[in-house]
Amino acid sequence: MISKRVSEMLRSRVSYPLAREYDVKVAGAINLASNESPYGPSPRVLRALKREAARVGSYPDPRATELKKAIGDYVGAETKCVAIGNGSDELVDLACKVFLNPGERALIPLPTFAMYELMCRVNGGVPKFFKLPNFEWRVAELKRALKGKKLVFVGRPNNPTGNGMSLRNLKGLLASGRLFIVDEAYAEFAGYSAAKLATKRGNLLVLRTFSKAFGLAGLRVGYAVGNPKLVEALESIRAPFNVNRLAQVAAVAALRDKRYLRKVVVMVRQGRMYIRRELTKLGFRVLPSDSNFLMVDVSPLGMNASEICDFLAERKIFVRDLSNFRGAGPNYVRITVGTPLQNERLMKVIKQLKEVVR
Ligand code: PMP
Repeated sequence: MISKRVSEMLRSRVSYPLAREYDVKVAGAINLASNESPYGPSPRVLRALKREAARVGSYPDPRATELKKAIGDYVGAETKCVAIGNGSDELVDLACKVFLNPGERALIPLPTFAMYELMCRVNGGVPKFFKLPNFEWRVAELKRALKGKKLVFVGRPNNPTGNGMSLRNLKGLLASGRLFIVDEAYAEFAGYSAAKLATKRGNLLVLRTFSKAFGLAGLRVGYAVGNPKLVEALESIRAPFNVNRLAQVAAVAALRDKRYLRKVVVMVRQGRMYIRRELTKLGFRVLPSDSNFLMVDVSPLGMNASEICDFLAERKIFVRDLSNFRGAGPNYVRITVGTPLQNERLMKVIKQLKEVVR
């Protein structure tokens, strides 16, 4: 009964590499494994949700007019350049449906977010991988890898490496005519975005989300910005009520509280600097990051990623073991920046670990 395509995926065990099942609700636990905001949403969002709760008996606005207008003002685009999705996850899926014919190839630089590969395969595309040399965005090598590919996924900044391709290099690659899906889920922490550029180019789609800096991961709101032709195609195949009523209202309220957003971004950047500095002092190799997480080589401790994650989890601190991320290898973990107190506790426990393995 199951289609050939999905049967093949089941056989080759291609599925989203879920993080370990940590009991994040256990008292005193700190979840630094999911790249969520430790601050959650703005209080304004919570007030708007309470007001809207009484209306959930009616369907949401299928055009999400108010939300698209607010997003357009935020990124500097007309509403016809904005498509919305049930998280940016859904937009990755929709983009593959819209742009990939069966058997066409998508270039996926590694390591990266697993949804690109999964959605490419689900929709009949063929993922082709390109290992980022030294986890860096070297465009000369990337340019050579474009041959024979219909589209390219670029995390900007990329998950889990944390770094992003420069705008200049992105423009250079766009000249190839390939379609670029540039995922900017962490753009607020980076302070850069190609969203405006996307409205002017025919081969660039930028994906953004409310799950990270805005603290709305549980509501599932993402959006794509691009040329109206591309956006129209995405919009035409999505389900009419893909972004629910509470999610739409919350996202609009979140965009109205820029002061809160700025505060979150400042705190996260400070935390990122603190963790990076402290880990570097202890001898770890920490990749430079523009995001709210850090990719860390734990091999200087003489342990692998899984052993470190176990040690931390026993002390109720959860970080992401990257050994099941394609292309990351056995020695890397990804640590989400938490609140100052959480970051300090993390560092205290890592210092204990260093004593143990001496
Ligand atoms: N893109 C990247 C790079 C991500 O890391 C994530 C979340 N882990 C997403 C997209 C998905 O975001 P959303 O919650 O909007 O589906």
